[in-house]
Amino acid sequence: MSLEVGIVGLPNVGKSSLFNTLTKAGAQASNFPFTTIEPNVGIVEVPDARLKFLRETYQSAKTIPATIKFVDIAGLVKGASAGEGLGNQFLSHIRSVDAIVEVVRVFDDANVIHVAGQVNPDEDISTVNTELLLADLEQAQKALERLEKNKKPSSTDAHYYLYAIGERSAIMKTSLEKAIELFNRGEPLRTQPELAIELKQFQFLTAKPLLYVANVGETVDQAKLEQINAHAQKENATVIAISVKAELEIVDLPEAEQAEYRKELSLISGLGQVIQASYALLDLITFFTAGPKESRAWTIARGAKAPQAAGVIHTDFERGFIRAQVFNVEDLQKYGSEKAVKEAGKLRSEGKDYVVQDGDVVEFLFNV
Ligand code: GDP
Repeated sequence: MSLEVGIVGLPNVGKSSLFNTLTKAGAQASNFPFTTIEPNVGIVEVPDARLKFLRETYQSAKTIPATIKFVDIAGLVKGASAGEGLGNQFLSHIRSVDAIVEVVRVFDDANVIHVAGQVNPDEDISTVNTELLLADLEQAQKALERLEKNKKPSSTDAHYYLYAIGERSAIMKTSLEKAIELFNRGEPLRTQPELAIELKQFQFLTAKPLLYVANVGETVDQAKLEQINAHAQKENATVIAISVKAELEIVDLPEAEQAEYRKELSLISGLGQVIQASYALLDLITFFTAGPKESRAWTIARGAKAPQAAGVIHTDFERGFIRAQVFNVEDLQKYGSEKAVKEAGKLRSEGKDYVVQDGDVVEFLFNV
């Protein structure tokens, strides 16, 4: 499962700095190669202490963490949806991402020019989100036009198949009209989860999960932070405050020193939290496979059943799924060994309807 998160925001808010910090941190933590696919695309590990615990318990030769792909998407300026700046090119880049991180400038620094002349999170967010909304509005209107054009009356209309298509597009038409109404009111599709699911195929930008990263200075301007919180609450989004500049400075330090430094600066969150929050945003959970060869974190959507989880590892595992031997990593932490977990009755054999839980350590039995 390759998850992709797009970083957006106005120019000079700290997007590239955040991207560099994230990818640097990923490289540092990694014992498998950090990949730069393009200059603005980086793969970052999801920090997870449970994986470290599994490695120690099983004396695994290696660990493979879950990863997220971050894409630094430059080019969002006022008027982007109408073709200003990189315009539509920019927008086509973010259609395919799974979630959006929007960097908002809170830090004050006379040496760093602000595109609108002053630091004003409320206005900046409005500018960015208006562009996203306008892009969605245009997309929805085009889709609606296409639907209407395809609705030519035909002598074979009575044919069930075509009838079914007609029925389907009538539903789609209503949904698109609802979305257009919403966009015109300035509301993101994210606030209407059911409608968003129905219109999934259109990859609307405002339907994507959104994380605001408030880029704060060494002292935090609470009033400005509050402006971001207010937006997030209305838009069903999440907020994290970090100092990108400080993070960029400490990313090369050993982990313990980083924590010390963070405390000194009284930073609200660390970089790891941005990664973890992005992961949580997508409503994903982690399950593990563990053994002497390797301990590995795997990513699935919350609610996925055992065969689907097996399929993430290998399609054969899903096809030939028989059952899964499962215990939770918390029980391993509690009882100390797999043997003790088993004796406590916490090692279960689960069938195809089992909904995999976050932190499950799984061994699949399959037949191919
Ligand atoms: P982007 O245009 O959004 O990608 O912004 P950049 O990451 O390129 O940053 C623009 C400028 O702001 C650079 O000179 C950075 O060094 C500076 N900058 C980024 N984050 C911070 C911060 O947290 N505090 C301060 N004072 N400057 C920052």
